[in-house]
Amino acid sequence: MTQILDGKELSVQIKTEIANHVRQLTAKGHRAPHLAAVIVGNDGASQTYVANKEKSSREVGFTSSVYRYPESTTEEQLLEAIAFLNNDTDIDGFIVQLPLPSQINEQHIINAISPDKDVDGFTPINVGRMVLSEECYVPATPMGVCTLLQRYGIETTGKHCVVVGRSNIVGTPVANLLSRKGFDCTVTLCHSRTRDLASITRQADILIAAIGKPEFFTADMIKPDAVVVDVGIHRIPDATKKSGYRIIGDVKHSEVDPLCSWVTPVPGGVGPLTIVSLLQNTLKAYHRTHPNCD
Ligand code: NDP
Repeated sequence: MTQILDGKELSVQIKTEIANHVRQLTAKGHRAPHLAAVIVGNDGASQTYVANKEKSSREVGFTSSVYRYPESTTEEQLLEAIAFLNNDTDIDGFIVQLPLPSQINEQHIINAISPDKDVDGFTPINVGRMVLSEECYVPATPMGVCTLLQRYGIETTGKHCVVVGRSNIVGTPVANLLSRKGFDCTVTLCHSRTRDLASITRQADILIAAIGKPEFFTADMIKPDAVVVDVGIHRIPDATKKSGYRIIGDVKHSEVDPLCSWVTPVPGGVGPLTIVSLLQNTLKAYHRTHPNCD
């Protein structure tokens, strides 16, 4: 029988754990952890993501602030803002919501973020530390995938994990994390140039789908009893919904789910864990500068 890797329920549980911890900190007279977000321009999806991060921060008792800049902001102006946030000792961690307007080089901005406050785990220093299995901030979505597998007690040792998608923020770090000691998967990393993808995904005990193509993964690509983690998020117009759209993933769940031992739903799978990971990283950043608070 197929079982659900319920990211929504797990995120509520972890948020409650964080909120209890924050309550203990503030009861002892310490300040609350503080997560800031920088957003440039008016991209609708980015506004929604930042609003969700702000809401979750507040729910667990963090201080949350959002720095909004107009679409016309220059790279120099944004670098000044980053320098300010790097030096503000009241802020434990911050994220810069991507994508940025075309006049701004995203890598220049990421490189300017202090690795100690880089709770998205995107700076070269944190990526390098992650690859070396050193103490670091792991990017939020890959961390969410790992948390789901760990908390649901999914057996990973010696399993063949096929990760499809090799982006710097999802596929590549997921492949790295699941191949390291502790998870001990044998990992195959696939991408758009992979030949005969279905023959590889059919060998997957654990399949991580992260390519950004709606309902791409169909039943013929799945090994019976596989664990399937669907990272994809797509808004599809749907007149029957009040919002006018529904969310679907990279996996065609109507035909794939019955074949799986475990599967993440979309929505309610990896998405909620991504935000929770950001909160966990912010708490970690807080404790780095408050070593005597527990
Ligand atoms: P990117 O577009 O950056 O990367 C997509 C990857 O998929 C690339 O490596 C690409 O290969 C590969 N790919 C594309 N088409 C195919 C194909 N037909 N066969 C095999 N590989 C293919 O996407 P992201 O990694 O940023 O995001 C992936 C998905 O995850 C998206 O739907 C996104 O919305 C979602 N997402 C969800 C999050 C969450 O919180 N749940 C957070 C972040 C993303 P190549 O490198 O060769 O081009």
